[in-house]
Amino acid sequence: VRAGVFRGVGDVRVEEVTEPRIRNVADVVVRVVRSSVCGSDLWPYRGVEPWESGWRTGHEITGVIEEVGSEVSTLAVGDLVVSAFAWSCGSCSFCREGLQTSCRTVQFPGRGGQDGGHAERARIPMAEGSVWKVPSSTPEERYDAVHLLSDVLLTGYHAALMSGLAERTGVAEAVGPAVVIGDGAVGLSALACAKYFGASPVVVVGHHEDRLSTARTLGADYTTALEGRDLSAFVNEVTDGGPRSVMECVGATAAVKAAVILARPGGSVAMVGVPTAVEKWPMGLAFAKNLTLRIGVAPVRAYMDHLGPVVASGALDVAPIASHRFALEELGAAYEAMDRRQCIKAMVIPK
Ligand SMILES: [Zn+2]
Ligand SMILES: [Zn+2]
Repeated sequence: VRAGVFRGVGDVRVEEVTEPRIRNVADVVVRVVRSSVCGSDLWPYRGVEPWESGWRTGHEITGVIEEVGSEVSTLAVGDLVVSAFAWSCGSCSFCREGLQTSCRTVQFPGRGGQDGGHAERARIPMAEGSVWKVPSSTPEERYDAVHLLSDVLLTGYHAALMSGLAERTGVAEAVGPAVVIGDGAVGLSALACAKYFGASPVVVVGHHEDRLSTARTLGADYTTALEGRDLSAFVNEVTDGGPRSVMECVGATAAVKAAVILARPGGSVAMVGVPTAVEKWPMGLAFAKNLTLRIGVAPVRAYMDHLGPVVASGALDVAPIASHRFALEELGAAYEAMDRRQCIKAMVIPK
């Protein structure tokens, strides 16, 4: 089969690789119908994170099951499934607690020679603990949105939950304002989830006019740049003294600082941006403001059960985040477009 293979910094190719086969009793093999390039795929691509030459690429996978291992009982050939970006057993104590990213036998697509999502077909280990079955009634026009459950959408959902929004949902007028820092796919997902929980107004702080325009499409009440005008004065004004919920979806020093500065005293800051370049944390200010700080990687497999049906039914439409489409053979161009920030999310769709 054809699959994306990492060959060095700035060099991801589509090559002929060994046909995926069931190797363990809990495996499934899927025909990939959607995959995508993630912001975090760019770290090996840019040489920031080590990735071996020959390892596959792509951790966001939606596919139709073609083969099942002998101990797979809840999934069947023909099922459409979305795979979490972290593969988990589904039965250890962390999986049972809903923290599948800390599974005792966690594995990741591509890493260590695993199959990746940028492929015509892929083997998914520990399938029952790793994938979510898409309702068969889901029309194909929702596949892009459903595919985003594999990572970015549920990372944004994690931010919304950790920033306390869900706790205030259902209490009239108590959800209140929220600020999202970051206009990438995760930031836009956090925005969509904040609106879903009823936050208002929601301010999205970003850099790129095209992405901020998508933010407005997804319901952002205000969009603004991180630099330039007095961000703090602006946010204070439109949120009546600062938001209780701030979602930091970048993972760089300036974004973390801004999150702590913008939060209302007594508020919550959720950090889901992978901290790649956070040198200094504004702990003193967070202390003075009595902030609740939460940080972490999203256990997306747990959240698929919450938000999957909402997305599959069309009640939450996040398709605008899936901004560009590439054929599998155009994988190199998809990486370049993401690297140059020419698109929000590069969908990679095998023929
Ligand atoms: Zn991802
Ligand atoms: Zn586990």
